[in-house]
Amino acid sequence: MPSLIAKRPAVKFFNPATDKWTQPFWDAAVQHRLVGASCAKCGAFRMPPTPFCPHCHSQLLNWVDLPGTGVVYSYSIVASAIMPGMDDCLPYVTAVIALDEAGDTRLISNVVDIPVDQVRVGLKVRVIWDDDWGGMTIPRFTAELR
Ligand SMILES: [Zn+2]
Repeated sequence: MPSLIAKRPAVKFFNPATDKWTQPFWDAAVQHRLVGASCAKCGAFRMPPTPFCPHCHSQLLNWVDLPGTGVVYSYSIVASAIMPGMDDCLPYVTAVIALDEAGDTRLISNVVDIPVDQVRVGLKVRVIWDDDWGGMTIPRFTAELR
C-alpha cells in the first residue's frame, strides 16, 4: 500500500502574524529568498527576530540570505482534523527545521510533497515557496528522496 503524501495545510486554517520585527522575513519570502535575522553587533542569529539580542541586548539586525536548506529537527504528522473542514489537507507534517548557516536557529514550517512515512529527524530538506497564501508567500520544505 503506497504511503500517504504530506499535504499543505490550507490557507484558511492559518494566519501568520507579522510585525515590524518579522516583516523583512516576509518581504524576502515574496522574492523567494529565505533570510535569517543576525545581530549586527555580535552576529548571533535569532529566529524569530526579537527586539533584543539574547546574547548582547543589541536591537540592531542584519537580514542574511540563507541557502534554504536544513534538516528536520522535530516533526509531527497531523492525520486527524483539528478543525472542521480540514479533511482535504490531511495528512500534513508540521516540522521544526534546523536551518543551515543560521546558527542554532530553527524555523517552524511544513514538510510537504513526500511520503509521510519517510519524514524523520535529520532528514535533509530544502525550501520551496507557496505563493498567494492570503497575500503572503510561505516557506515550506521538501526532500529529495531515493
Ligand atoms: Zn547580539
